[in-house]
Amino acid sequence: MERRFDNNKTFKDHMPEKKPMEDQEILTSQPCPFCKKNALEMAQQEMDIPFFGKTYVFSMTCTNCKFHKSDVEGEQSEGAIKTSVEVSGEEDMKIRIVKSSEATVKIPHIVTIEPGESSNGYVTNVEGLLSRVERQIETVRDSSDDDTERKKAKNMLKKISRVKWGSDKFTITIEDPSGNSAIISDKAKK
Ligand SMILES: [Zn+2]
Repeated sequence: MERRFDNNKTFKDHMPEKKPMEDQEILTSQPCPFCKKNALEMAQQEMDIPFFGKTYVFSMTCTNCKFHKSDVEGEQSEGAIKTSVEVSGEEDMKIRIVKSSEATVKIPHIVTIEPGESSNGYVTNVEGLLSRVERQIETVRDSSDDDTERKKAKNMLKKISRVKWGSDKFTITIEDPSGNSAIISDKAKK
């Protein structure tokens, strides 16, 4: 059976099975929506996240063209959410974060991660989120032809490394119309 990637559908619609699977299931040699080779790996993993509930992590990776997409969905999501937390020390770097592809993540004065077609969903912690952002900005710094853009990227990286090493307090805000995102901490405000 041929499966075609259709942008009008959500990510999980592309998964081979919509009913919850046991723990983890991987399908290999699926047709890639971009390079059309049968090189796509599709995986679904079930996680039990305290204070958030059962969560499904979906991912697609093409071993040929490196296309990658991932997303998360909470079983008990309660509709649109806005949540934030102040990160003020090393301990807070471990605060767990669930970010869906529809989430807008804001770290004021540092960075905003917008939702969109190339946006991924994942389960991480504050440190992991900062590292992901760092890698994205590094790509801009290393590949942009625009001087201003490269300079901006360098400044953002400086700010991120300062907060990563705990010398600056900062706030993370997540807005998600799908409700599939969360900041898992007693300190988080809704
Ligand atoms: Zn591909």
